[in-house]
Amino acid sequence: MEQLAKKPTDLDKYVFLHTIQDSDETLFFAILTTHTEKVMPFVYTPTVGEACQKWGEIYRHTPRGLYISINDAGSIDSILDNHPHQDVKVIVVTDGERILGLGDLGVNGMGIPIGKLALYTACAGIHPEQTLPVHLDVGTNTEGLLKSPYYMGLRQKRDRTQAYVDLVKEFFAACQKKYGRNVLIQFEDFGNTNAFRLLEDHQKTATTFNDDIQGTASVVLAGIISSLGMTKKARVADHRFVFLGAGEAGVGIADLIAIAVRHETGCTLEEARAKIWLVDSKGLVSNARPDKLADHKLHYAHAPPPSHANPSSGNALLDAIKSIQPTGIIVVSAQGQTFTKEICEEMARINEKPLIFALSNPTSKSECTATQAYEWTNGAAVFASGSPFDPVTLKDGRRFVPGQGNNAYIFPGLGLGAVACDATSVLDDDMYVAASALAAQVTPEDLASGCAYPPLSDIRNVSLHIAAAVAENMVKSGRALSKPKRGESYVDMCRRSVYTPKY
Ligand code: NAD
Repeated sequence: MEQLAKKPTDLDKYVFLHTIQDSDETLFFAILTTHTEKVMPFVYTPTVGEACQKWGEIYRHTPRGLYISINDAGSIDSILDNHPHQDVKVIVVTDGERILGLGDLGVNGMGIPIGKLALYTACAGIHPEQTLPVHLDVGTNTEGLLKSPYYMGLRQKRDRTQAYVDLVKEFFAACQKKYGRNVLIQFEDFGNTNAFRLLEDHQKTATTFNDDIQGTASVVLAGIISSLGMTKKARVADHRFVFLGAGEAGVGIADLIAIAVRHETGCTLEEARAKIWLVDSKGLVSNARPDKLADHKLHYAHAPPPSHANPSSGNALLDAIKSIQPTGIIVVSAQGQTFTKEICEEMARINEKPLIFALSNPTSKSECTATQAYEWTNGAAVFASGSPFDPVTLKDGRRFVPGQGNNAYIFPGLGLGAVACDATSVLDDDMYVAASALAAQVTPEDLASGCAYPPLSDIRNVSLHIAAAVAENMVKSGRALSKPKRGESYVDMCRRSVYTPKY
């Protein structure tokens, strides 16, 4: 840890840690499990963003993960044979099209599956030999990469033909053949034109989920549930939300909020969705929009409120806030610094305790800083961000600990639960259960400091309890091949699968 502290830049710290991973995996995971909060930013967001941008430049001699190109179609079976470990339980796969909020990074996106799987081990104890990072290389549309001498992927534009869909299909079939029907396959950082349809294509026949859509939704819902007291609401159903960003994260979160409201009130999903409004790059999503809306936005194309007839501020989010009067805003547009003082002030004018979740990653894409959110609302905001921010002390001495709506709160625990019970599917209902289990572990002390999430230092314990809740849901709904032994609790059953690095 002293050597790590002496590395001059965050990227140097990233390379240093991964060099340890390449040479002494046990030490790497011992560091990650002992100092999770300190090292996570150098293993995952925000540093992994820069690492991916410079992937070719920082590439080291030890290969990690499988790169499968579209030219390998027909041979995926034999490519999987090249991986040294056979007992794979969790796969994270990307095609590199939408890496964090940084766009299309082609094969440089491999840093994300590697980082996420490190967190599966660090945060929940999935054995490192049971994890497999995969990149499906179908080209990139980023000219700079195609021209870079350091770029290691196919030098061609992205394949958007049926061959791409077939490659993903072959990949799923090969993984299930080799590792078993119930191997958990997590979609990661696919562009939203593919993400929704691929999830739909595979979710019924494989144990799979998309972390950008469903994992994000679960962690954000957990923050909304845990902060109900802070926002002075009795139920999620008492909120009204405006989103900026209507992509994977935005629509995924909106859909899960609607499921939570249905659970709480017994209303229909349509009724629940009526309290959720989306703003995308073209303005308020509504049924009055002249352009053709993408399918995933259609559920939220409500009739625009009469007061929205003449939006006047020139800022679509501010106009939406003025006409819809939300209790919470959730921002996932990856535009960086899109919040104005006026937006936060307006939220604080409408609400005693506005919920403001500014979730775009990495830090350069965050809509505002934690300091801005607290200062602009005079400490009223219940704030969470995507990338970490330090605690903030206002001029009057009040101190706030901003929550980080980090997906690492959910996917490792969810994965552990699925692995422990040999789950046959992952459903949105599991995401709701995971969110409720996470929210239940936020303590009164966390809430007193303004934080809607538990400390990351407690993540292994948190993940174990999420795993137990999820496994119980899977077993009880008949979607699991294993169940607890007689007299064993779900927590104990999940604990049996946990790897602890001994150093
Ligand atoms: P996406 O590409 O699927 O969606 C982005 C959306 O933003 C699109 O709907 C687009 O129309 C909209 N948008 C773009 N420019 C806009 C503008 N100027 N005004 C309004 N909307 C605009 O991406 P995504 O998967 O939804 O991710 C979005 C961001 O959320 C990324 O930065 C990602 O890192 C972040 N994210 C954070 C977390 C987390 O903190 N837990 C989880 C997932 C995603």
